[in-house]
Amino acid sequence: MSQIFLFGEEKINIPLLKLDVAQLKQHKESSKKKLSAYTISTDELGLDLSLLSEKAVKCIRLLQASGFKAYLVGGCVRDLLLGKNPKDFDVSTDATPNQIVKILPNSRIIGRRFQIVHAIRGNEIIEITTFRNNKVQAKTGVSPKMSNRVSDQSGMLLRDNVFGKSITQDAQRRDFTINALYLDPEQRLIYDYTGGLYDLVKMQIDMIGDPSTRYLEDPVRMIRALRFSAKLGFKITKRTSAPIQKLKENLLEVSNARMYEEVNKIFLTGHGYESFCILREYGIFELLFPGTVELLNNKAYTDFVEYSLKSSDARSAIKKPNMPHFLYSVLLYPVFRQSYYELERENEYSIKPLTLTELTTIAVNNVLNAQYSVTDIPYATTESITSMWRTQIQFDTANEKAAAALSEKGIFRAAFDFLVIRSYFEPYLEPMVTLLRPYYQRAKELALQRMKEKEQRKIAKREKKALKLEKRKKKKATGANTSFDDEQYTSKERQEQLRKAKEWRKAMKLDI
Ligand code: ATP
Ligand code: MG
Repeated sequence: MSQIFLFGEEKINIPLLKLDVAQLKQHKESSKKKLSAYTISTDELGLDLSLLSEKAVKCIRLLQASGFKAYLVGGCVRDLLLGKNPKDFDVSTDATPNQIVKILPNSRIIGRRFQIVHAIRGNEIIEITTFRNNKVQAKTGVSPKMSNRVSDQSGMLLRDNVFGKSITQDAQRRDFTINALYLDPEQRLIYDYTGGLYDLVKMQIDMIGDPSTRYLEDPVRMIRALRFSAKLGFKITKRTSAPIQKLKENLLEVSNARMYEEVNKIFLTGHGYESFCILREYGIFELLFPGTVELLNNKAYTDFVEYSLKSSDARSAIKKPNMPHFLYSVLLYPVFRQSYYELERENEYSIKPLTLTELTTIAVNNVLNAQYSVTDIPYATTESITSMWRTQIQFDTANEKAAAALSEKGIFRAAFDFLVIRSYFEPYLEPMVTLLRPYYQRAKELALQRMKEKEQRKIAKREKKALKLEKRKKKKATGANTSFDDEQYTSKERQEQLRKAKEWRKAMKLDI
């Protein structure tokens, strides 16, 4: 029997309401002194395990069959317990990355800071991490240089590859209690070591361990706390939010590549508006986008950003993707425009005036060079931002002929969406929107048609491959082809043959 709970504006089924909150509270309190598992059966909670990725469950089954422990952990367990559809699936195991890749086909080790394994299953990637140990230095007294857990002077972890032996060690190294719940889909059990079940029911985000130390180890945890608060509509416990004001500048020490990824997660996954509000509340938005500092007191700017983020969130809600170049174009557009106007004014009096392309290039560089001090932006994204902003300048003065030419550009559809948002705030743009709309419709239809054609080509290619494979299988089964034919062997078999041939040549001294 499910219970309905009002969660933000959404009515959802919270299986956890079946639990005894007082008991959960007691478990959380006692877990601070000594870690022990609070175990609950998924059947008792009425959880629908068919919502779990079959592929992730199969990875777990294979790891367990080889004698290892393996669980689902993190966002997928949290979301399942909140009655939401879990999206990405993280697996935690006591097998080392090298052991994992031997057990799971089509998997590879990635990462330097945290070595993890990606098991690639069609268009799904299952992330598999080995249990880690947060306490290794304290326990062993091993100097950071000697261990695989390396931190800088402020305590920030630069590398953290100390594998733990137990699930309890792994639970302690996770960020928030709600992210440290483990689910064994084979046993159909959930394990809570840190009080995550209690915090889920209380709708709060609470750091595991001492918040200041954990933020110093990894400052990204500060924006993760804000992100989960925005995403889930949870409050952040006082102890967890208190050190943020003092420590937020440490975010600038995080690598720019990682900051780029985190910023994308904050703004592009359906809760951009809420994230913007909470980041401003904590004074972190201006740290992430230093070029906007002077604009944040300008209501016209915040209204524009809020409106754009709400429309991106609405796209997410209907499963339409949001792209980083659109986000950066929106957030930094007024900064770009200011820089462009200044350059344009100077240009008017120049003996050798610059072209629109040259002017936009300089203005884009002015804006993005300041942004690169916090986030990296991949080259292709920078190109798209440049194209997006340049097209906005061109839209301002376009006539019918120019509009037709602009509609041929790759960025046109996104640029038109952007123009529509601008027109809410700059009503003089409305005639331009009207002029461009038929071109937009045409470009949209064309893109749809191209997508269909691409899909058809993909299907044809897949069918051809399947046919070839079938033919090869048949040949093998009947033993019909005894002559040498490369196609009857898989590439692994072929490699093995070549290896044997090489050995034989060596033995016969034919290679000398
Ligand atoms: P989402 O739904 O956004 O994917 P998530 O909780 O799954 O949320 P991930 O970034 O996918 O977030 O991380 C998976 C899990 O890894 C987290 O739930 C948490 O347990 C752990 N984790 C991730 N980042 C950190 C971190 N910086 N410090 C400690 N633990 C972390
Ligand atoms: Mg996740």
